[in-house]
Amino acid sequence: MKVTEHIKKANGNTQFSFEILPPLKGQHIQSIFDNIDPLMEFKPPFIDVTYHREEYVYKELENGLLKKQVVKKRPGTVGICAAIQNKYGVDAIPHILCGGFTKEDTENFLIDLDFLGINNVMALRGDAVKTETYFKAEKEGHAYASELVNQITDLNKGIYLDEELKNSSETNFCVGVAAYPEKHAEAPSLDSDIYFLKKKIKNGAQYIVTQMFFDNSKYFEFLNKCRKEGITVPIIPGLKPIATKKQLNLIPHRFHVDLPEDLIIEIVKCKDNSAVRQVGIEWCIDQSKALQKAGIPILHYYSMGKSDNIHAVASNVF
Ligand code: FAD
Repeated sequence: MKVTEHIKKANGNTQFSFEILPPLKGQHIQSIFDNIDPLMEFKPPFIDVTYHREEYVYKELENGLLKKQVVKKRPGTVGICAAIQNKYGVDAIPHILCGGFTKEDTENFLIDLDFLGINNVMALRGDAVKTETYFKAEKEGHAYASELVNQITDLNKGIYLDEELKNSSETNFCVGVAAYPEKHAEAPSLDSDIYFLKKKIKNGAQYIVTQMFFDNSKYFEFLNKCRKEGITVPIIPGLKPIATKKQLNLIPHRFHVDLPEDLIIEIVKCKDNSAVRQVGIEWCIDQSKALQKAGIPILHYYSMGKSDNIHAVASNVF
C-alpha cells in the first residue's frame, strides 16, 4: 500500500514508522531482523531502508604506493526491502539516490522494485562522496532529486528511457522526498530550499520526510511556511533520540541541525552515556507527544542501527 493510502486509512491517528540502515558488508541479515522484531508491536505501516553509495578507500601496496578502491560498505537495500515485505507483510521503502546512478541504472533499479511488489520509494540526491567536497552527478545521471522524481513519474506513465519501447508497462510508485526544517546545508536560504522542494512536489512527489530536528517549533514553522507556499502533501517529521555524548557535536556537524540549549545542558550534566541515553529518550518522548497532540499523521524515527531507544520512546507514545 502507498504511504498516502496508509495515512488516509489511519483516519487521523498518529502512526509509528522508522528507518533502518543495511548492515555493514559481511554481517547477516538477522542483525536487521533483530532490530525490527521489537518494533513490530507498534504496527509500523512502513519501514524505510537507506541507500549507501560507493566510497573510495586507499589501500597501501607492498611497494608503498596507494591503490584507490571503490567499496560499498552497506550494500543490500533492495534485498532487505524484499525480505521485510516477505517476512513481516509490511511495506518497505527503499531510498534511491541520484549519486552513483546513471538514468539507465535508475530505470533498472526501479524495474527490480516494481517486479518485487515494492511501490513506495524515497527519492534523494545523496551527498558528495566522502573524498569530495561537492556533490557530482554521474555523466548520464541526475543532479537534483527533482529530476529523479521526474524519471519515476515518467515510469509511472509507462515512459521509459528508450523512446522506441511501445505498450510498455506502467509502474505505480508513491514517491517521497526529503526536506530540511533548518535548511539544507548547501541552500543559500530556507526560502530557496522550499522553492526547490516545491519543484519536487510539482514533479510528482506525494509526501515529504524531514531531516531530524530537536526543537518542534522549527518543524511547525517549516510546516506553516510550506503550507503558505502551497505545498499540501503530508510532511512527516523525522525524530532521533540522542544516545551518546559524542552526538552532541556529531549531529550538528553531520546533519546541520541545532540542538536546543536545554537539551545541551541536560546532556552535559550526564555522568555517562547511559544517562545521556535516558535524557535523549525523554526529550524524544516529549517531542513525539507534542507532535501527536498536533495531529501529525506519522512520526518517523531514525534508528541508525539501534532500536532499543526507539522502542523505549514508542512504548510511551503509541
Ligand atoms: P535535493 O532536493 O536535490 O536538494 C539538494 C540541494 O540542492 C538543496 O540545497 C536544494 O535547495 C538545492 N537544489 C535543489 N534543486 C535545485 C536546482 N534545480 N538548482 C539549484 N539548487 C537546487 N542520503 C543517502 O546517501 N542515503 C539515504 O538513504 C538518505 N536518506 C535520507 C532520508 C531523509 C529523510 C533525509 C532528510 C536525508 C537523507 N539522505 C540520505 C541525505 C540526502 O541525500 C542529503 O541531505 C543530500 O545532500 C540532499 O538530498 P535531497 O534529496 O534533499 O537533494
